[in-house]
Amino acid sequence: MADKTYLDWPFLDDSHRKLQSDLAAWCAQYDFGDEEDIDNRCRQLVADLGKAGWLKNCVPAKWGGASEKLDVRSIALCRETLAYYSGLADFSFAMQGLGSGAISLYGTDAQRQQYLPAVAAGTAIAAFALSEAEAGSDVAAMATSAEHSGDEYVLNGEKTWISNGGIADFYCVFARTGEEPGARGLSAFIVEASNPGLEITAKIETIAPHPLTTLSFSDCRVAASARIGESGEGFKIAMATLDVFRTTVGAAALGFARRALDEAVQHTSTRELFGAPLSALQMTEASIAEMATEIDASALLVYRSAWAKDCYQERVTREAAMAKLYATEAAQKTIDRAVQLFGGSGVVKGNIAERLYREIRALRIYEGASEVQKVIIARQTYNRHGK
Ligand SMILES: Cc1cc2nc3c(=O)[nH]c(=O)nc-3n(C[C@H](O)[C@H](O)[C@H](O)COP(=O)(O)OP(=O)(O)OC[C@H]3O[C@@H](n4cnc5c(N)ncnc54)[C@H](O)[C@@H]3O)c2cc1C
Repeated sequence: MADKTYLDWPFLDDSHRKLQSDLAAWCAQYDFGDEEDIDNRCRQLVADLGKAGWLKNCVPAKWGGASEKLDVRSIALCRETLAYYSGLADFSFAMQGLGSGAISLYGTDAQRQQYLPAVAAGTAIAAFALSEAEAGSDVAAMATSAEHSGDEYVLNGEKTWISNGGIADFYCVFARTGEEPGARGLSAFIVEASNPGLEITAKIETIAPHPLTTLSFSDCRVAASARIGESGEGFKIAMATLDVFRTTVGAAALGFARRALDEAVQHTSTRELFGAPLSALQMTEASIAEMATEIDASALLVYRSAWAKDCYQERVTREAAMAKLYATEAAQKTIDRAVQLFGGSGVVKGNIAERLYREIRALRIYEGASEVQKVIIARQTYNRHGK
């Protein structure tokens, strides 16, 4: 990563600077492999990230983690650095945090003890199961049900777009318990992959492959003690989890964008066109200037949101939405510019710009599409104006 000046910004402290530099050194010598045999690649990545200690940033210190509470700046720095090297490594890291986030934030001590140390060690793989075919952006339309029966809940329904589906050891599943209609009638549960009644019914292939499946629940019984938080609190738990991790989606986008800029600078400095390097053309300079400026603007929003969450604000719904919206959209533009500067080679399979072009796309959709982030920001803005 050529420009590390952002590490000196006041949002970060010495422990963050050391974390970034140690992780970058680890990444530089790690063999991230290719896009073959994705499920095993991800299992290996989780194991290796755990062994090296990086997954400690995904859980609180009391349960095998690095900081007293989830430190969003550390998670963001890890995601940015991993994404710079490998989208799949960022994915494996992020899902350990997102998949166990509800337990970290709202679990009982028994649940935390059972799952979080293994998540941090990379010996258990976590997943977050919120979305359904008819309930993606509109979470409140969720149909999967969890019926209370004695000291158990019985889950029925289907979840889709579930990252780590098929390789996860446990899923944090959100289902309708019906206390009230809509968003107020949801609860969260831990469902072990081996639980009878839980089945992987489809694998989904995407342009940047990672384990992604549809899950089906058919009279899937879990103990009442597997419920996370209070009954009817599911929506709040999901949103609080996203409040931590949404900012870090922006950080991953930033990692992809920084890589695109570094590769574009390298390529345009050596590619000769019309008797001079491509970098000598003013339109190339304009592209590089826009890329560099948007990267700094993204970093400011990402680390402002992370710092606010870590240091003084319980909820950062507005800041996280701005960070995710801006950083993912800007990274898409930055990577597109890099593809353009590479010319034909930028769209050839295996070229770094081609890979980044595929890897960035889903970030503008998952954990709330860009339009959803705009709705959140607009509502918060009206609120601030008393409207
Ligand atoms: C690669 C990948 C990984 C994922 N991993 C997970 C996971 O691990 N767990 C999980 O639970 N889910 C996961 N998802 C699901 C993801 O969160 C949903 O795809 C997302 O919320 C959008 O839902 P949808 O696909 O149903 O699109 P829809 O809800 O149908 O939305 C379609 C489009 O409508 C537009 N739109 C939405 N709302 C508005 C609005 N208010 N105003 C204007 N336009 C709007 C947006 O452009 C949006 O992209 C993943 C998705 C992808 C692609």
